[in-house]
Amino acid sequence: LSPVQEAIIQTEEKYGAHNYHPLPVVLSRGRGTKLWDVDGKEYFDFLSAYSAVNQGHCHPKIIGALQEQAQKLTLTSRAFHNDALGEYCKFATEFFGFERLLPMNTGVEAGETAIKLARRWGYDVKKIASGKARVVFANGNFWGRTIAAISTSDDPSSTGGFGPFVPGFTNVAYDDPGALEAELQAHGDEVCAFMVEPIQGEAGVVVPSDGYLRRVRELCDKHNVLLITDEVQTGLGRCGTLLACDHDGIRPDILVLGKALSGGVLPASAVLTSHEVMLTVRPGEHGSTYGGNPLACRVATAALTVLKDEALIENAAARGEQLRAGLRKLSEDEGSPIKLVRGRGLLNAIVIGGSDKGNYGDEGMAWQLCEEMAKNGLLAKPTHGTIIRLAPPLCITSAEIDESIAIIGRQNEFL
Ligand code: PLP
Repeated sequence: LSPVQEAIIQTEEKYGAHNYHPLPVVLSRGRGTKLWDVDGKEYFDFLSAYSAVNQGHCHPKIIGALQEQAQKLTLTSRAFHNDALGEYCKFATEFFGFERLLPMNTGVEAGETAIKLARRWGYDVKKIASGKARVVFANGNFWGRTIAAISTSDDPSSTGGFGPFVPGFTNVAYDDPGALEAELQAHGDEVCAFMVEPIQGEAGVVVPSDGYLRRVRELCDKHNVLLITDEVQTGLGRCGTLLACDHDGIRPDILVLGKALSGGVLPASAVLTSHEVMLTVRPGEHGSTYGGNPLACRVATAALTVLKDEALIENAAARGEQLRAGLRKLSEDEGSPIKLVRGRGLLNAIVIGGSDKGNYGDEGMAWQLCEEMAKNGLLAKPTHGTIIRLAPPLCITSAEIDESIAIIGRQNEFL
């Protein structure tokens, strides 16, 4: 590491909180699929800020929208109307095929909003007894770091030392419709919603069996339970379809979006749903100072437009096939550390070493591989020890995928 990068990292270490463990690289510039460190070294970005930068770094059309709006008006709060919010809600609801949109900032706030809407709907429409509404989640879920979000987590590193937790949440096994069915048969009268990720990103790109979401949809319908899909990481083209649940041909009752909704430019998240669900919340009952700010509305509109206009969704599907095929080929090499390749579109992971089921023993190896890939010009990060997520911006070209596979392939030499 250069003395310049070392010094910057030291300052952050000394004055910042130690709530992350970044790879030792200090970045100062990004464009498209590429990042540059402060010494000018170039990298492929294979994390895309946890799938927030689907459209590529500093996309000129998104930055253009930001600059144009920033000269005019950035924030009014919702105490007054602004001239961007209504237009944005109309555009985004038509884009996704929902009736109404509620804007927030971060993914976790959108998740909290979805749960509040579901509970309120549970009391007002489903007529659940006061204070009894329950929301069901899947084991392995990740939807953020607030107290409510960690109250649904079964990951000890998220929950340890942070209790007590929020009541009214139950967990069932992921990718197991029978587990959800049993829960709904036992407590369906009190359950207002099931919240689920179509592919579990933070859990290590866990792809459920074909038909899982369709069965979940049927069970929710049967028990009058709202289906909330958390597409903060999987949505917006990442998995090769606009929404990951399009792959299964199902629609949620409540859709949660964040991250790439702004193309990585500023925090913008959203909850989309029906009149029936959205209008259960009335003035003064929920909100956010920055939620729906004109800057975010213009940026999100540009970010969604870029996804469609530049055919990034189709590209994610094709480049994803190419990437997985290349990685599978690498995994067949003698002594390859790649034990498994999985994913959909450009949300992919390789499992390093032995088992991916709670095996933290190979953690060191996955970390070293990421450091080695960084030296060779590709940035990726392990999740859950032995799993390395590979999720470049959706604008990556076929030639760039080939170059990236070659860089990842060099790991066989290193080991
Ligand atoms: N939901 C999912 C599926 C996520 O992957 C994340 C973040 O990684 C979140 C919600 C939380 O988003 P944020 O970090 O913007 O609060």
